[in-house]
Amino acid sequence: MQTVSLSLLNEHKTVEFGSLMSKLCTSLCLKLKRSLLVTLEGDLGAGKTTFSRGFIKACGFSDVVRSPTYTLVETYDFDLYSVYHFDLYRLLDPEELEYMGIRDYFSKTSVSLVEWPDKAEGMLPEPDIRIYFTYKADTRDIVIESELVEQSELDAVKAGL
Ligand code: ADP
Ligand code: MG
Repeated sequence: MQTVSLSLLNEHKTVEFGSLMSKLCTSLCLKLKRSLLVTLEGDLGAGKTTFSRGFIKACGFSDVVRSPTYTLVETYDFDLYSVYHFDLYRLLDPEELEYMGIRDYFSKTSVSLVEWPDKAEGMLPEPDIRIYFTYKADTRDIVIESELVEQSELDAVKAGL
């Protein structure tokens, strides 16, 4: 298991972190030609949506990135891949994911960012990258874990911040 810990000193750094992870994840999903699952764990206000905004903007999306709090998922289609941003906080029953056609989301060249993955209770594939966000008074602490990404690539993300 490759892992790295880092600290994000302000909101801007969280956006930048999202942007760096976007470069890494989109090139990986294009190389592997499959869907990549990135889970985002942490309390409310820990920075998951801020990270996702940085991620999606860095893919070339120039409009406002909306939080999928009520819609459960927002889709962003780019030329070569799609990004699906899930927020499962309000998911009442994991069965709902079945009705949404959750399997289709994981059968395309895509990156799925999933806030509150534990709400899916086993309806998601095994994550390729897990990101843990911890709320601190003025900063956010991050741990990234992955079996897929090289240690040097994780170290490069930390060094780039
Ligand atoms: P979540 O999606 O995890 O509930 P949000 O991204 O919606 O969290 O909210 C995070 C809040 O914390 C926002 O108000 C944002 O401005 C702030 N924030 C994000 N990253 C940092 C950081 N690194 N340091 C301090 N505040 C941050
Ligand atoms: Mg959120």
